[in-house]
Amino acid sequence: MKDRIAVVTGGSRGIGRCIALCLAQEAKVIITCVKRWEAAEATVKEIQSKGGEAWAYQFDVSSFEQTQGFFKEIIAKFGRVDYLINNAGIARDGLILRMKEEAWDEVLAVNLKGTFNCIKAVASIMVRQGYGRIVNISSIVAFMGNIGQANYVSSKAGIIGLTKAVARELAAKGITVNAVAPGFIDTEMTASLPEKIKEYMLSQIPLGHFGKPEDIAEVVAFLLSDKARYITGQVIHVNGGMYMQ
Ligand code: NDP
Repeated sequence: MKDRIAVVTGGSRGIGRCIALCLAQEAKVIITCVKRWEAAEATVKEIQSKGGEAWAYQFDVSSFEQTQGFFKEIIAKFGRVDYLINNAGIARDGLILRMKEEAWDEVLAVNLKGTFNCIKAVASIMVRQGYGRIVNISSIVAFMGNIGQANYVSSKAGIIGLTKAVARELAAKGITVNAVAPGFIDTEMTASLPEKIKEYMLSQIPLGHFGKPEDIAEVVAFLLSDKARYITGQVIHVNGGMYMQ
């Protein structure tokens, strides 16, 4: 496993950072960021201080060209990509009556097209290897909807469809594609929500507390492991019971 190469988009902070730290116990980890280079560097240092191997790259997943360029660099340096975790994501909340076209376009471009861009770049690499594991980070709101998040919810629901379509296409090539749908997880993304909304969310969680990035990272690590070799095209819900299928 130590020779396996993992790419975690948005691995500089929050859930992605935690996924990177978790995977670094078993693989070489490449994390990406778009703006906060210092956060990416800090995550790399933290992994190295624990004896792991990690590298940071900066590019915008919403750009097809930048994404292609990034994976070309990765192949030139490392020769393969075993795991892709499409975690980079943003929210630009607003009620549909007020939502600007730019807020729709930006969120769809980063969350959904960014996931497509990375899968598109990595698919041929994994097909050549005859092996690959892809995990896409969706969201509970893709299943429940959420007020003020028409753009975000649509992007995360799109990720579910993308996951299932690509899982069917790549299954015969030894590649699994799954999604994880986190509930309310304590990160910078959720820290900025108004207290009233946080209190309401908390009241809707049967387990009685918000999730931690580790709760997501452990499930991602499982989906990448050989224990999950017969799982593809699935969505794993990690939400404290807030949504039950
Ligand atoms: P954070 O806001 O804490 O981190 C987002 C990460 O994505 C950062 O590393 C950021 O890089 C990166 N990123 C943002 N835009 C781009 C871009 N255009 N190109 C490349 N990288 C980009 O988010 P979370 O850790 O909270 O969320 C991680 C994922 O989990 C997201 O997809 C989110 O939608 C999803 N999720 C989160 C939930 C939660 O409760 N927190 C619940 C459900 C899903 P930089 O540091 O440079 O800004």
